[in-house]
Amino acid sequence: MNRLYHESEDWVAQGACRSYDPELFFPVSTTGPGRHDAELAKAICRTCTVRQECLRWALRAGEAHGIWGATTPEERRYMRRELVPAS
Ligand code: SF4
Repeated sequence: MNRLYHESEDWVAQGACRSYDPELFFPVSTTGPGRHDAELAKAICRTCTVRQECLRWALRAGEAHGIWGATTPEERRYMRRELVPAS
């Protein structure tokens, strides 16, 4: 896993991202120049055995940066809007 402060999560040790440069999972953008890195990180996530746990964590935590569970911050914001009914 590329973020040490999540080491307490059991699934972290099994993350496919542990074998890659952490910066790949924090592209400067998900469009334009950063798009290639974002797509590569998402492709790695799609091979990851703990992708669902990772995505659940990122959604619960409201993680605003980086690629988690093969999603961009924009995709997670959309998912949260769709999953959490407006009050
Ligand atoms: S889904 Fe992606 S960011 Fe999450 S642990 Fe797996 S490789 Fe890492």
